[in-house]
Amino acid sequence: MQNKNIVILGSTGSIGTQTLDVVRKSEKLNVVGLSAHSNIDLLETQIIEFNPQVVCVIQKDKAYELQNRLKAIKCKTEVVSGEEGLLITATLAQAELIITAVVGMVGLLPTIAAIKQGKNIALANKETLVTAGEIVMQLAEENNISIIPVDSEHSAIFQCLQGNAPSAVSKIILTASGGPFREYSSEQLQQVTVEQALKHPNWVMGNKITIDSATLMNKGLEVIEAKHLFNIMPSQIEVIVHKESIIHSMVEYQDGSTIAQLSYPDMRHPISYAIYYPSRVDTPYIKKLNLSRIQTLSFEEPRMDLFPCLQLAYEALKTGGTMPAVLNAANEVVVESFLNRQVTFMEIPRIIHKVMQKHICINRPTLNDLLECDRWAREYSRKKVEKC
Ligand code: NDP
Ligand code: MG
Repeated sequence: MQNKNIVILGSTGSIGTQTLDVVRKSEKLNVVGLSAHSNIDLLETQIIEFNPQVVCVIQKDKAYELQNRLKAIKCKTEVVSGEEGLLITATLAQAELIITAVVGMVGLLPTIAAIKQGKNIALANKETLVTAGEIVMQLAEENNISIIPVDSEHSAIFQCLQGNAPSAVSKIILTASGGPFREYSSEQLQQVTVEQALKHPNWVMGNKITIDSATLMNKGLEVIEAKHLFNIMPSQIEVIVHKESIIHSMVEYQDGSTIAQLSYPDMRHPISYAIYYPSRVDTPYIKKLNLSRIQTLSFEEPRMDLFPCLQLAYEALKTGGTMPAVLNAANEVVVESFLNRQVTFMEIPRIIHKVMQKHICINRPTLNDLLECDRWAREYSRKKVEKC
């Protein structure tokens, strides 16, 4: 493989730092752009190590502070700021691959801008596809670029699809760890604290996705993400709880064969696969699977009655139009409110459901319709949170 110039949007986060770890262990990757929301201490360390051409800091005062720090050490990296800065970073002329690892729907516009500039995308930011999957996938096709999934389940499916005709697929089986409350009763779920919800059994991730994993909304968002990435009907997407997180997902074919992708849970695997695709590279730093040590892999049905977020996501997907964007926006607001201890764990699905019920869905929405519905859903969700 020739050297590849990459940009990482959200480089200070869980996926961002793990991506930089993959870069650190490779000689063929040049980092040309990075971005953070406000963590300029970590971003400065990353700049010194990887010497990017441009970095974006969303918070303008922090961007200014970083600029001064870089000037003092005679560092030539340019600092841009705000949402305009993120667009500049996502469309840098030298960049060949944009790794979208910001959290939330803020990833949408930079992803669209990058696609329009002909950049390939390694997509971790699932909220982008949940909000505007049709538009994003169509733009990717028109601009002849690839969107390679980083999300472990979608990376698994993508790998299981290699060499097979999409028309031969009968269903996709997304595995879910079940989160920390897999075995909780309804009564126990009423008492869940923020600290308990932030302790995922298998993965160390950013706060938002960790809460989404505990409510099973993460799996719901992934069902929607899968629909768009693999152009498949909602009824062909199944979720199964697999607490060990060894099988990252499966594809069942019409001939009765089911192909699965297995590895220990380590996001550097799907990140490395997405960066190097279609090649596979040696990753000695990732622990190889030892099945005799694992011995047992278990599977069970998801408990939709106790974790209604998964059901809500299926409903939003079936309704289509602007409903998935509304589901996503409401979820972002309510999860933040849960983290700020303004609502309880079980109020998360309740409020999202109310916002969805109130929404007047637009079929075949434009990007502006989606952005407007996202704005409306955030405002309405905040009102509902205030009433709690
Ligand atoms: P983190 O919260 O760890 O990191 C988020 C990154 O985005 C940070 O760099 C943060 O900057 C930046 N950021 C936060 N808010 C904004 C904003 N408003 N505008 C621009 N940038 C912002 O998240 P994760 O790395 O866990 O997740 C990133 C994405 O990847 C999510 O969409 C998630 O669903 C997806 N994903 C994550 C997985 C994981 O294992 N973590 C697995 C699969 C998918 P700062 O540090 O300055 O706050
Ligand atoms: Mg996932």
